[in-house]
Amino acid sequence: MSLLSIRGISKVFPGGTVAVDDFSLDVASGELVCLLGPSGSGKSTVLRMIGGFERPTAGVVSIDDEEVTHVPPNRRPTGMVFQSHALWTHMNVYKNLAFGLRLRGLPANEIRDKVEAVLELVGLAGYGRRMTNQLSGGQQQRVALARSLVLEPKILLLDEPFASLDQHLRERLREEVRDIQQRLKITTLFVTHGQDEALSMADRIVVMRNGRTEQADRPEVIYRDP
Ligand code: ADP
Ligand code: ADP
Repeated sequence: MSLLSIRGISKVFPGGTVAVDDFSLDVASGELVCLLGPSGSGKSTVLRMIGGFERPTAGVVSIDDEEVTHVPPNRRPTGMVFQSHALWTHMNVYKNLAFGLRLRGLPANEIRDKVEAVLELVGLAGYGRRMTNQLSGGQQQRVALARSLVLEPKILLLDEPFASLDQHLRERLREEVRDIQQRLKITTLFVTHGQDEALSMADRIVVMRNGRTEQADRPEVIYRDP
């Protein structure tokens, strides 16, 4: 059985824009799937429906056999990282990461252990007391990733997380994320309009156009037959 099951979802926005049009996808546990396509092809809207931020006009998204629209926001099984990190600049790194765990009522010592482990994982051990606005763009995106991971989501949703970074940093972070993803074996959906990014990271690539799947296959196949 697949961890994520998307059955014929569509999204029509008020005004009539059909952002997603009868889209289906199954993702197995531990897979990294890239949604690749030009701007406006519906990638973000698919991701937001998986995350429960947007309700499908038709169709169903299920995670572990539970419909996403039936899950209350505080129990969402997904963690999302956006292009702009939206960190809390009035809190230090530690508090940014501890916040969600506090809401869940975890004891302070468990929170500390989890925060330290995740900081280590993203290469920011020792950065707990730094204010987020004193960090570089790449470090801020690592904190954003850590803030999602610390809550141990079943599925990680990454929406062009490196788009605002320069080419060199983007390539480095792409490798780091792939490495972390494989170590944690965390099921991941990665939205990008960069073919190189998708080819270098994905177990499977779903090419989207006009809200639909144009092609879905392993990177080797997509590369041979673009
Ligand atoms: P992508 O992520 O591939 O760039 P999006 O999912 O962001 O594509 O957008 C798909 C289409 O839906 C676009 O035409 C976009 O303008 C439209 N769209 C996205 N969000 C909204 C919204 N909240 N209201 C109206 N139209 C939207
Ligand atoms: P409080 O509830 O008073 O915020 P905490 O124990 O969560 O108590 O943290 C107190 C301060 O110590 C916070 O400002 C936090 O940034 C810092 N702190 C706690 N643990 C760590 C850590 N492992 N690394 C860096 N800073 C930490």
